[in-house]
Amino acid sequence: MSIKKTNFIWLNGDIIKWEDAKISVMTHALHYGTSVFEGIRCYKSYKGSVIFRHENHINRLYNSTKIYRFPLKFTIKEVINAVHIIININKLKEAYIRILIFIGVVGLGINPPKNYYADIIISAFLWENYLGNNAKNNGIRTMISTWNKIKPNTIPSLAKAGGNYLSSLLISSEARRNGYDEGIALDSLGFVSEGSGENIFIIKNKILFTPPLTSSVLPGITRDSVLKITKNINLKIKESLILREFLYLVDEIFLTGTAAEIIPVCSIDGILINNGKRRKITKKIQKEFLYLFTGKIQDKWNWLDHINL
Ligand code: PMP
Repeated sequence: MSIKKTNFIWLNGDIIKWEDAKISVMTHALHYGTSVFEGIRCYKSYKGSVIFRHENHINRLYNSTKIYRFPLKFTIKEVINAVHIIININKLKEAYIRILIFIGVVGLGINPPKNYYADIIISAFLWENYLGNNAKNNGIRTMISTWNKIKPNTIPSLAKAGGNYLSSLLISSEARRNGYDEGIALDSLGFVSEGSGENIFIIKNKILFTPPLTSSVLPGITRDSVLKITKNINLKIKESLILREFLYLVDEIFLTGTAAEIIPVCSIDGILINNGKRRKITKKIQKEFLYLFTGKIQDKWNWLDHINL
């Protein structure tokens, strides 16, 4: 799970060496969690390197800054262009791209002064699957976290903010301490929400269920891709509130995220999903997702942003 460092980082419009990309200990975001970010993947495809749903990710990033009212020096177009530059200059054919927008050195008052701009860092590097490479085939063991997800109108779940990941840390580290691979959290009402860094999908009797965004879930780009891709498969889709105990009774469960991709769940709270039988539909959806990059299914949504290396 370690990341492979590259040569250059984009910082507020400048390209600097990875080693020189340093920030002050008085950075506001370090003290108060005032950052928003994106994780994006660049894949090797039949047409060369492509950034998956690039514009959708940058739009979500700008939505996060809008919620927190971060003033920005750069337009969406400029950031999209900068991502291309950082992939090219680091000579990457595939990559995980991390964009971080944060409140920098503006003093230590919680409310930043007028006339500041948020800082932007763009990095790209190789990063293997977040839940381990075996997870995609063999699945992972999960538990329902004792920690609930953030409640509506406390910390916004539609924003992908650094501070949200304190909740994710509690959920994920509790699971690891107890010998599981990942934790799944319930929302503040007790309905199923999501994993520490992934959305959740459930299959029961050929219906694909996923919790609605009102269950405090991040509007995942992979989640949205799965919802669109499964229209090619004979499955009904239902976004609905999900009871915890329903998870114990279903045919298949999988998690989705940019870093983790599509990961089958083999057990939850020690209960095997479908008695540990094969996860046929999850495999099909995993394959359909990869077909986008092999050209076996057409990119009718215009999701692939080509890199000219
Ligand atoms: N939920 C959370 C809490 C996440 O951190 C992520 C990863 N960004 C996701 C869901 C999945 O989102 P995406 O598919 O856009 O990566």
